[in-house]
Amino acid sequence: MKYKIDMHNHTTLSSQCSVLDVRDLIRLSKDAGMDAICVTEHNTMYGARRAVTIGAEMGFTVIAGQEIASASGDILAFGVEAEGLQGIPVPELCALAKERGGALIPAHPFRTNAFSLGDTAAEYAGCFAALEGMNGNCTDEQNRRAAEFAIKLGLPYIGGSDAHSIQMVAKYYTVFDTDSPIIDTRSLIIALKSGQFTAVKAGERSTV
Ligand SMILES: [Zn+2]
Ligand SMILES: [Zn+2]
Repeated sequence: MKYKIDMHNHTTLSSQCSVLDVRDLIRLSKDAGMDAICVTEHNTMYGARRAVTIGAEMGFTVIAGQEIASASGDILAFGVEAEGLQGIPVPELCALAKERGGALIPAHPFRTNAFSLGDTAAEYAGCFAALEGMNGNCTDEQNRRAAEFAIKLGLPYIGGSDAHSIQMVAKYYTVFDTDSPIIDTRSLIIALKSGQFTAVKAGERSTV
């Protein structure tokens, strides 16, 4: 079965940079045909955990993650539940994720107006489940570079809107091809590790 999941979203629950109410995010994602979304606030699980509860009340799957500002750039983390990890060196974050059975994905690796891993992602490629090859705040060129870099490293790549407002919801997402439903962080990590997914920009398939 195919599962459409927008992997990267910020809400007013705990991202000061966002003007997106979690209920609007859920409603609009559902309307756009998403099967689930991830909420990935900056350096905290708090908003994501609240969003999971609100999603359940609204009959929609929300999966909790966070976007950690590591010492080398932003990294989406699933299954790494610790708080206050900003500034953590990537090797330490890798060790933590391994210990917890989590999955790490460098966010927008070639975005220039945000803290991004860029080429240094290659040094730690072994500890990443994927790269974010399609990000809603990147130019097409920056996304193309990220997708090509992922391929070069032998990694798959995901898509996420990185939505901070209602206009940005469900613009980019990931289509998972899976036999079992993706309903929570654990099942998402299993699906990520299978590598069976495709990044999509709403209205077009990846061309890389
Ligand atoms: Zn970011
Ligand atoms: Zn973000």
